[in-house]
Amino acid sequence: MSQDFGDIRHSVQALCREFDSGYWQRVDRDRAYPEEFVGAMTRAGFLAALIPEEFDGSGLGLGAAAAILEEVHLSGGNAAACHAQMYIMGTVLRHGSAEQKQKYLPAIARGDIRLQAFGVTEPASGSDSTRIRTTARRDGGHYVVDGQKVWTSRAEHSDLMLLLARTGPRESDRSRHEGLSVFLVDIRDALGSGLTIEPIRTMLNHATTEMFFDGLRIPADSLVGEEGSGFRYILDGMNAERILIGAECIGDARWFIGKASGYANEREVFGRPIGRNQGVQFPIARAYAAAEAADLMVRKAAALFDDGEPCGPEANMAKLLASEASWQAADMCLQTFGGYGFAEEYDVERKFRETRLYQVAPLSTNLVLSYLAEHVLGLPRSY
Ligand SMILES: Cc1cc2nc3c(=O)[nH]c(=O)nc-3n(C[C@H](O)[C@H](O)[C@H](O)COP(=O)(O)OP(=O)(O)OC[C@H]3O[C@@H](n4cnc5c(N)ncnc54)[C@H](O)[C@@H]3O)c2cc1C
Repeated sequence: MSQDFGDIRHSVQALCREFDSGYWQRVDRDRAYPEEFVGAMTRAGFLAALIPEEFDGSGLGLGAAAAILEEVHLSGGNAAACHAQMYIMGTVLRHGSAEQKQKYLPAIARGDIRLQAFGVTEPASGSDSTRIRTTARRDGGHYVVDGQKVWTSRAEHSDLMLLLARTGPRESDRSRHEGLSVFLVDIRDALGSGLTIEPIRTMLNHATTEMFFDGLRIPADSLVGEEGSGFRYILDGMNAERILIGAECIGDARWFIGKASGYANEREVFGRPIGRNQGVQFPIARAYAAAEAADLMVRKAAALFDDGEPCGPEANMAKLLASEASWQAADMCLQTFGGYGFAEEYDVERKFRETRLYQVAPLSTNLVLSYLAEHVLGLPRSY
């Protein structure tokens, strides 16, 4: 059995008690960024969990980071406002220059600057990220960026953004991973100088945006690693992202199961608690079994990651199984609450909207299944 990180969980629980259901309802209703929550998470050092101690972070492993995010979601909150910092910084850590690491990582760890935004998806290419059209053209000591991104979350609340752009041609399907580069863009300098950010209002409070690049000049030293190798760097970070999102889904699933069990015990109709009916009990028990099984995969994937072992299949399965378990639990919980599940004050409808996202983003379920079919089971490539 993997570590349980009891002390860390208790600290996160204490922090989350400060952000009750009224808080999350208010930010959801106002479509506001949960600034106070993100500030508290930053000050507590939780968002710097994966930054090594030499750069002033906590130097923890992915299992610990997963426990932090799971607890936030189990408390009824939503870590999506800040979770990306945990995994985006991995690209800088693994592939950035010594100067970039020294300049940015300690400042991120201290909370002086935020690296929350990750610009990959574009309107025309969607899930097919190798076909992005945003370009970065070298011009002396700069790159000039032109193009458009969509669904770049938290861009309005971040100082830095990791941007994937094309620096060379996509010559064939065989070389589809080449010609893409990653840049660390300072949003503060870019805004109004070739970068425009437009918020997108969505069914959940996610601070997501559309970004337009029109001749944005960024210093040449914004490039992370080698020109043309950026897609590989992004792929490197995806296992961590999938495991952490899986952990959030486990927290959500457990929140729904706890909520439904409590309500089924209390709510009396036909002169008895609704939870006495097996038609109400069994979906709760089934959701519980699914969540516990998915949690084992999340823990296995995190343990492999922390041991430096390959974990692509496990990370993908963790995200797949956990996002399905959280959605199963969400649907069950709404049904258990009957009409009251639709009322804002019980938080069920909010969490229902929030957890549904994870079967679409950061990667849709079909793409995970394709990965498993092709890369694990040896079936023919389908796209
Ligand atoms: C709230 C929100 C926040 C997001 N935040 C970010 C962010 O911060 N940064 C970022 O870069 N992106 C972000 N995304 C984008 C997200 O990663 C994409 O929405 C997701 O990858 C799917 O791409 P798409 O929406 O273009 O769907 P499409 O690629 O158009 O796919 C639509 C549907 O078709 C299916 N499909 C497509 N091709 C195939 C195939 N070959 N086989 C089987 N099924 C297929 C997909 O599974 C999906 O269900 C966010 C999205 C949302 C909604």
